[in-house]
Amino acid sequence: MCEIWDLNQLTIPPRSILHHLELARINTPYVESLTSHIVRLAESHSVYPGVLMERQIAPLVEKQYASANLHKIYNYTGALNGTGVMASDLVQAVGSLTAHTNLHLLTMLPWSEVFPSRGLLRHSRAWCPMCYEEQYSNHQEICDFLLWTLDVVEICPIHHQRLCHTCPYCKQPNLPLAWRSRAGYCSKCGEWLGNSSHGPLFERSDLSETELGWLSWAANAVGEILATTPKLTSKVSKNRVARGLSACVDLFTEGNIAEFARLVQVPKNTVWLWCKGKNSPQMDTLVRLCFCLNISVLDLLTQEQIEVPAEPVRLLPKSCCQTKRRADIKLTDLKQVELQLEAVFLDHKLPPPSLEAIAKSLGYHRKTLYRNFKALCRAISAKYVQYEKTRYLNSIEACSEEVQQVVLRLNAQGVYPSEARVSHFLTKPGYLRYKKIRTVLQKTRESLSSRGIE
Ligand SMILES: [Zn+2]
Ligand SMILES: [Zn+2]
Repeated sequence: MCEIWDLNQLTIPPRSILHHLELARINTPYVESLTSHIVRLAESHSVYPGVLMERQIAPLVEKQYASANLHKIYNYTGALNGTGVMASDLVQAVGSLTAHTNLHLLTMLPWSEVFPSRGLLRHSRAWCPMCYEEQYSNHQEICDFLLWTLDVVEICPIHHQRLCHTCPYCKQPNLPLAWRSRAGYCSKCGEWLGNSSHGPLFERSDLSETELGWLSWAANAVGEILATTPKLTSKVSKNRVARGLSACVDLFTEGNIAEFARLVQVPKNTVWLWCKGKNSPQMDTLVRLCFCLNISVLDLLTQEQIEVPAEPVRLLPKSCCQTKRRADIKLTDLKQVELQLEAVFLDHKLPPPSLEAIAKSLGYHRKTLYRNFKALCRAISAKYVQYEKTRYLNSIEACSEEVQQVVLRLNAQGVYPSEARVSHFLTKPGYLRYKKIRTVLQKTRESLSSRGIE
């Protein structure tokens, strides 16, 4: 008998199916978002996030929206970092694959009772090129911050620059999670989005001192909330907001709701509904309100006592006010605008502009133009819609042909033309979300097997 041979069973802790990556920058204002974590997880397994979502995650989420694949939820991927059921389902699914129990900290779920989902998250990706560059040069994990996904945050609180929304190379926006998302890179053209001296410089900010003051304040206030999330012992309740706001009304205007409403420039009834807990202010409204009162948003949400600041009330800079009304057309300008619209309609330049784009370039709201020049606006819209429809049909046609060719080519090479493989060779892989293209793929594969070539 060998004495050092221990026959007792070893206790091996349970293994996770996927890598158990550390949650980047947790406990800081710059905690990564859940979609960013998925992107990093996919990269550590050397697959596209779309493949990871489709093969590993979707089967665990037995819901209509995720049962098939990422193609179906492309336009809603922002919600994966939010407060709703899409986020909680994903937290569960990814948690069970990676043995993480606190992935909800990468979403807004801990604040789901406080912040209504309306106006909370942006629908497309936003980023700070200088943050990416710093992460890269400091050899840190490259990730997207949860802070960048929130609509009220417009600037990077570290670099005081506006967040970017379009790639400087291909000029296209990115989705929060796309089939080929990659941390720090454009999911459309694959270029590095960090502010490197080799690429085109991102747009420098055009902010005034007062605007910058408010935007920095807002970004820092929200960052403070995110940094505190892991320290919360329980979910912050809806009542907490109502109590906090009632306390503010008492403190600032001795319980007078009407006066308080005037002070923070919000309708009286709205304030009343907030104080009674029948309604909750959207995140951006609450942040604006706290800025006006010069109090911390976090204190309002978590502290029983709120301190009245030395300089109690300040107003938002005019250019940052929530409702930007565009002026109606002056009588003297009516003829001029009509002539401009006519010129646009008669111009045969392609592609024809949308009414939205024309309205923007003329400095009016689309509805204002419509009200004044109904027939002309209808004609311009119809031309645009017709052009877009033809363009869409043509590109579907072109993509169908491409799919057929790719399937045949893969088959000739003895490789099974799976959706993921075919998508890899397509000029527009996102088109696989269209039913028509998927049918073409299906039919081409069927024709191969019926001919017995496969
Ligand atoms: Zn930054
Ligand atoms: Zn790009």
